[in-house]
Amino acid sequence: MSDDTETEAERWRAKMARRKAVQDAEVAGKTIERGLLLVHTGAGKGKTTAAMGLALRMLGRGRAVAIVQFIKGAWSTGERMGFAAFGERLTWHSMGEGFTWETQDRARDIAAARRAWEEACRQMARPEVALVVLDELCIALRYDYLGLDEVLAALAARRPDLHVVVTGRNAPAGLMEAADLVTEMQAVKHPFKAGVKAQEGIEF
Ligand code: ATP
Ligand code: MG
Repeated sequence: MSDDTETEAERWRAKMARRKAVQDAEVAGKTIERGLLLVHTGAGKGKTTAAMGLALRMLGRGRAVAIVQFIKGAWSTGERMGFAAFGERLTWHSMGEGFTWETQDRARDIAAARRAWEEACRQMARPEVALVVLDELCIALRYDYLGLDEVLAALAARRPDLHVVVTGRNAPAGLMEAADLVTEMQAVKHPFKAGVKAQEGIEF
């Protein structure tokens, strides 16, 4: 090795050592442990799949997970079939009657959202459950199928170590304020625009 490359290597090592010191100090400064409220919103794809990824991560840790779907009906999805392998550690309730524009019946949608919410509360009360996914709850809030105040109060009163992830477009401001984490999926490109229909294993 020439002197030049040796100096270069030494500079790199020193730079990385400094970076590690900063990183370690930052990590050491974070000591709080608690259940998080996570919100996945925005117009881009990935809100539900990211929530399912968290469910898989928690199941991998040996913990129990509950998933409540607020809007979608009982049609089969790849994730539901995949999660079947986890047996009783995964509870899945599809409480919706389909998309709002399909039911075209507000009273029925409200009743379905109410049933889903009651199920969500039951799941949040189970002491063995580590993560509850409330899929498309934002939609039920957006259409006022459920009162935001009631939902926020129940989320605030949950067990302190329980993680909850809420998905759906147009998350209400109050929910985002209450959340520990908000990720907005941005639609940069979607195959739907190019005429591609929903693909098995990718959309469902
Ligand atoms: P996914 O379940 O794939 O993570 P999502 O939860 O982010 O999607 P939703 O708003 O629940 O998205 O919509 C569900 C369906 O709409 C999915 O099939 C998804 O691919 C599709 N979709 C999501 N974003 C877009 C978009 N920007 N344009 C067209 N279709 C979309
Ligand atoms: Mg979704």
